[in-house]
Formats: sequence, structure tokens, C-alpha cells
Amino acid sequence: MSDGEGRQCIRCGVAEGAALLERCVACGKYFCADCTYRATGRRFCSHECARAFFYGDSDDYESDVDADE
Ligand SMILES: [Zn+2]
Ligand SMILES: [Zn+2]
Repeated sequence: MSDGEGRQCIRCGVAEGAALLERCVACGKYFCADCTYRATGRRFCSHECARAFFYGDSDDYESDVDADE
């Protein structure tokens, strides 16, 4: 597995080079600026990751439907 190549946004699939990708601190995947979910000064790939990061990775309650596809 080669890290550093072939990165793409997990949300919209844009390739690194076509967009600036950032790494999600919760799941470690990459996402682009357009797909960034911001929460309290940090940036995540998704609302679910933001919540997992702040509240722990529990399934106490159902994820909200992310209809942004
Ligand atoms: Zn994206
Ligand atoms: Zn994430």
C-alpha cells in the first residue's frame, strides 16, 4: 500500500492535485475543501467523524442521514 499517491476525496472523489485534500483526524481519510465539515475549529470529512472525534466512537444513536450525494 503506497501512502501518498492516488489520494482522493472520499466524498466527491476529486483527486489530489485537482483539489487540496486534507486528512480527517477522525478516520484518516482525505477530503477536499468543498466537502469539509467544520466543527469548533477543526475540519473533518463528515459530520459523523466530527461527532465521533468529540464524543467518542460510540453508536449511542443513529447517524443522521447525509443526503449530500
Ligand atoms: Zn470532495
Ligand atoms: Zn472522517
